[in-house]
Amino acid sequence: MPTRTRTPNVTAAQWSPNGGALGQADLTQASANRFGDNVFSIAVQRQRLPKAVFRQLEATVAKGQPLEPALADAVASAMREWAMERGATHYTHWFQPLTGSTAEKHDSFYGPTGDGTAIAEFSGKELIQGEPDASSFPSGGIRSTFEARGYTAWDPSSPAFILENPNGALLCIPTAFTSWSGEALDNKIPLLRSMDALSRSAVRALSLLGETAQHVFTTVGAEQEYFLIDEQYYFERPDLLTTGRTLFGAKPPKGQELDDHYFGSIPERVLAYMLEVERELAKLGVPIKTRHNEVAPGQYEVAPIFENSNIGADHQQITMQVLQNIARRYGLVCLLHEKPFAGVNGSGKHNNWSMGTDTGINLLDPGDTPHENLLFLFFCSAVLKAVNAHQELLRASVANAGQDHRLGANEAPPAIISIFLGAELEKAFTAIETGSGDAATPAAFLEMGASVLPRLPLHGGDRNRTSPFAFTGNKFEFRALGSSMSLGMPNTILNTITAQAIDQLSDVLESATNGGTSIEEAVLEIVKSTWADNKRIVFSGDGYSDEWHAEAESRGLANLRQSPDALPWLVKEQTVEVFSKYNVLSERELEARYEVAVEQYVTTINIEGETAAAIARTMLLPAAVRWLGTLQQVGVAKLTEETGPLVDEFVEAILVLEAANRDHPEGVDALEEAKYVQGTVIPAMNGVREIADKLEKIVPDDLWPLPKYSEILFIK
Ligand code: ADP
Ligand code: MG
Repeated sequence: MPTRTRTPNVTAAQWSPNGGALGQADLTQASANRFGDNVFSIAVQRQRLPKAVFRQLEATVAKGQPLEPALADAVASAMREWAMERGATHYTHWFQPLTGSTAEKHDSFYGPTGDGTAIAEFSGKELIQGEPDASSFPSGGIRSTFEARGYTAWDPSSPAFILENPNGALLCIPTAFTSWSGEALDNKIPLLRSMDALSRSAVRALSLLGETAQHVFTTVGAEQEYFLIDEQYYFERPDLLTTGRTLFGAKPPKGQELDDHYFGSIPERVLAYMLEVERELAKLGVPIKTRHNEVAPGQYEVAPIFENSNIGADHQQITMQVLQNIARRYGLVCLLHEKPFAGVNGSGKHNNWSMGTDTGINLLDPGDTPHENLLFLFFCSAVLKAVNAHQELLRASVANAGQDHRLGANEAPPAIISIFLGAELEKAFTAIETGSGDAATPAAFLEMGASVLPRLPLHGGDRNRTSPFAFTGNKFEFRALGSSMSLGMPNTILNTITAQAIDQLSDVLESATNGGTSIEEAVLEIVKSTWADNKRIVFSGDGYSDEWHAEAESRGLANLRQSPDALPWLVKEQTVEVFSKYNVLSERELEARYEVAVEQYVTTINIEGETAAAIARTMLLPAAVRWLGTLQQVGVAKLTEETGPLVDEFVEAILVLEAANRDHPEGVDALEEAKYVQGTVIPAMNGVREIADKLEKIVPDDLWPLPKYSEILFIK
């Protein structure tokens, strides 16, 4: 009988800088690599482009206009030269289809000359526009098959970069991906549109507030959680391999309850890996800031310094890619799935978000002066209003099959969207509403009139780890994103709904000041009524508690527990209205996204259901039957009595799962099918797993074909 390997396949010698197969981790080389070395940054552009071309490019980017052909040719040629000096032989239009990951189609710089030789060429046209075979990317019906063309268009506001591979290098040009008729098929286009929308609204509001800015940009910095496991175990687990998560596995004896992992020392192999990831990201211009162990065993986190949302979102995609690629050099696999292990905390992504002016003001920073406080109160009120009005949509923006194991499961924020402001700020808003305050409230709140503006307390530093949307001093932290997600949609939604709320408050401000009210008085009145109307969204208690579920219900807050409950909000009337008004996504584009998301949910559960059935029937059941056979042969009655019925139950459960996988309802729409897999396939999978996990504990270790949690999670 085959027994499985017990040891992970990579020993220290293989990954240590001086030894073994992975000599690329050469420290002398490391010090030669500098931040942004592999980025065609503004500094490189300035250096490499003729002065006039550089200025024109800068101006075009600033205005968001298309590039003239002659200009594009000049930029392309400089970019190619720079890339080839760095060993690039190919270029790609790098884009972000609705799969949530990135896509590339590689083209060589070399083209035939006609006399049998080849020369390096890369025209402006090739830089600006590409035509990948789009039919393999999800479009939610936008691209009917007879018009399967899709275009990629250069986004000059996100710098091109070089991805290195041990055997070559590739120039990546960030692009947007559209259908032939101009509909967005990616995560970048709506994000850019939403940033424009927010900028317009915020600039208007600022001018009403007596502040001049040409442009307001949104910022994002995402804290990314991930698991690292030894690659040996990954390949021995068909469930991890095909679905990214373990569909079986009994809880390990030593679990995370020992709490010794968080901020604990980082194992050497893992640290070596992290250092290389950081070096690689630095070369790509991704500013990494922190790294530490996370709560679960084998779980880690990486966070960048924030950037404007478009670049931050691109960098987040690069980060996920680099995390996964580099892991393989260390005999590790990086898992970005939201819930790789049952009974162990899953992985999320905290989306730190703010708005800043081109004059350097962070609009969500309370600041030191009354004027800054005024701006803050106004924009913070807009966020409260936006999140309250569109709580369900925000919930939908973070919905996927993996998230359903996490949100609301007392390890991640609940599926109920609420805002944590912190005690001081909450007190300040309450004081403004009631026009009075207690002794702890800054005196200025007591006299809300005329020119005296409240001096806002500094952020008290109190933290609430259970809130999905928390104010953390000078930004909001949307904490409900899943670890595998693109930042695109959640930020697109945040920007769009905030643009709407800012405009709504600006309308009130405008008519008040036109009617002779002072800006200060008008803002206080707006803050007061906005707080009164939206304070139900503010909650500072324990988001994991049952009381909160009851309380949220009485406040009328939505509790959309699972993806099929949440996703329809992508196409609800109020969503369509705000997205059309701000030209971020048309109704058709929203419907496409909704369809893609629902289909992805169904496909994910289908694959899980079939993988679980196959593993159960062809790997686990045979192991259990062999053991039962041995027991019967030897005649150990007591153990036979224990194992026999469990094997019978297992067979029954497998048959139920197989039927669930097979008997999908026919001729129903995607949401109906999603509800079917939710209501039938998932419970059937759980049924099989429950028995399998019991069997894992009684079948001899050398017969059990899957590596166990205790090995996967604790061997580093
Ligand atoms: P925490 O206590 O949550 O770790 P940090 O100050 O370390 O808080 O910041 C966490 C993340 O928030 C980092 O990725 C950081 O870049 C990001 N961040 C900080 N300020 C902003 C901002 N104004 N806009 C967007 N993200 C920000
Ligand atoms: Mg955080």
